[in-house]
Amino acid sequence: MAVKRRKFKTEVQQLLDLVIHSLYSNKDIFLRELISNASDAIDRARFLSLSDEDVLEDDPDWKVKLYVDKDEMTITVSDNGVGMTAEEVDRNIGTIANSGTRKFLEQLQEQKGSLPPELIGQFGVGFYAAFMVADKVTVVTRTAGPVDEGTRWLSAGAGSYTLEQVTKERRGTDVTLHLKEDMAEYLEEWKIRKIVKQFSDFVEHPVTMDITREETPRDEEGKAIEGAETTISVEEETLNSQKALWQRPKEDVTDEEYNEFYKHISHDFQDPNEVIHWNVEGTTEFRALLYIPQKAPMDFYMPEGRKRGVHLYVKRVFITDDCEDLLPPYLRFVKGVVDSSDLPLNISREMLQEDRLIRLIRRNLVKKVLDTFADMKAKNREKYVEFWEEFGSVLKEGVHIDFENREKLQELILCETTKTDAGAYSALEEYAERMPEEQKAIYYLTGDDRKTLESSPHLEAFRSRDIEVLFLTDPIDEWVVQGITTYKDKPLKSISKGDVDLSEGDEDESKEEREKLEEERKEVVDAVREALGDKLKDVRLSQRLTESACCLVSEEHAMGVHMERIMKAMNQEMPTTKRILELNPTHPLIEKMQELVEADGENPTIKEYAELLHDQALLTAGLPIEDPVAFTRRISDLMASAAK
Ligand code: ADP
Repeated sequence: MAVKRRKFKTEVQQLLDLVIHSLYSNKDIFLRELISNASDAIDRARFLSLSDEDVLEDDPDWKVKLYVDKDEMTITVSDNGVGMTAEEVDRNIGTIANSGTRKFLEQLQEQKGSLPPELIGQFGVGFYAAFMVADKVTVVTRTAGPVDEGTRWLSAGAGSYTLEQVTKERRGTDVTLHLKEDMAEYLEEWKIRKIVKQFSDFVEHPVTMDITREETPRDEEGKAIEGAETTISVEEETLNSQKALWQRPKEDVTDEEYNEFYKHISHDFQDPNEVIHWNVEGTTEFRALLYIPQKAPMDFYMPEGRKRGVHLYVKRVFITDDCEDLLPPYLRFVKGVVDSSDLPLNISREMLQEDRLIRLIRRNLVKKVLDTFADMKAKNREKYVEFWEEFGSVLKEGVHIDFENREKLQELILCETTKTDAGAYSALEEYAERMPEEQKAIYYLTGDDRKTLESSPHLEAFRSRDIEVLFLTDPIDEWVVQGITTYKDKPLKSISKGDVDLSEGDEDESKEEREKLEEERKEVVDAVREALGDKLKDVRLSQRLTESACCLVSEEHAMGVHMERIMKAMNQEMPTTKRILELNPTHPLIEKMQELVEADGENPTIKEYAELLHDQALLTAGLPIEDPVAFTRRISDLMASAAK
């Protein structure tokens, strides 16, 4: 194969430029990234070898070896992992940066170059970190199998890279960094030892290096003996302790070790928000070390962002980082390791899906994680709020899906209410504590944001009676509340749907009054109903309005306005739901219309006014009006006649 020259994709080049112009102040991490990649590749090869002996025969001694060449100023990270085919090299390094990277770069452009630290933290550069210290990088790689053909990838980081077919004796990957002039310290043994110890100590495969020792014979006083020959010996030494962190007792592990291990497995650059480490003994035995990240990774909402959740080990042997059955999807932000001594080593993906033990482990993990959140919420609200703001909307999915843990999940929900300050949250339990005993339901209102909700006409009667209403502003909330029909025996009720009954105690009196008003306003209600025809489900007098003239409400079990808007924004085909128009019987406008109807039921102004009322109600609900031209004409006519 001739040498092929390829151009980096634009976003890869942008990324490289960033890396080269020092995205991270700590350049040492390049070695961590390369060792992590090498160790991941070995994990995968070892897993293959469980079912394919040939992989082992090829080269059974799993390790990452570092080579230093001071004359050439190179450092090489070499592994005997799975390696890459030519096509894989091309795809993995150089052509396609993952969607997280692309998003990161877009945000960066919006920020006009200034980088907030939390943005950097969410984002790992992986392989590209090599270009922080090197001005040229070569990758020589070969997959398992009898053919000794491999691929060489080479780039100086500026615009392009080359691909070439080469001979490679062993399976695996060698990444060689040609260090920049001022990066010579990475050739020093002490420096390399220090970095490996700091960042990769727990990597379970040995990270080795040939250490050259010069021994000069000395006399008793320690002086070199003249004429005696210096001996030079080279010995391969393992630089990391390889101690699996999760196997160690909790008391022996420092925060720093926990954090470094987290970064190794998650490829996150920030410390985790919370560490959960425990052993389960009894019917099933396993050890787990789980982490709650501070921030969702950039690609969290993309399909590839779901990988690398919890790594499954069996007796300290890595099996997979893609076992979807270990945790339910609503806990997909949790990272970590689970190591079971009861599963068979040669377990296949299909077996994992059906395994009773996996289900048992999953149940344990979910319980522990949810208990940890409950504890955090009770003891460290600030930290819990940070977690909630980042992952709350994912966790909430569980309310609808995980019947077994629904109650625990309900307790974890936080939202703003009419009685919290903007940006402050209340839990359902706290709402229930504040609620007067005779209150019939827990009320909520869904919408885009607090500001819109605060000005909603639906709130008027609740405000005037000092009844607290939950503000649900997350698009997923509409769906979540359908999963919580009652909380502490009180139903959850949308204040923009169905009838509201806010009467307390004085029922007879208010009923009588209502009936009287109904009677008085019957004609105007009928006239509006007739004027608007089949645009509406119905027209009726309102109990929830005290200031506005009218509002739209949905039937109790129909799709709410907010939900309809969300679905439409997602381009979902949907019939438009017909709603109920409620009129405020004491509003001067309705009184005026009543007079018009009484004077002459055929007066065309009545229809015009009815249309205007409907359009107003649509606008306040955030829905589009059917005919903006007609609406504008009506307003203009009205203004012209008022100005006469
Ligand atoms: P990340 O490791 O976060 O996926 P990288 O840029 O570090 O991103 O690597 C991109 C991909 O290249 C990896 O996902 C892996 O498939 C492949 N890769 C990198 N290093 C190696 C290696 N030493 N052996 C095999 N594959 C590798």
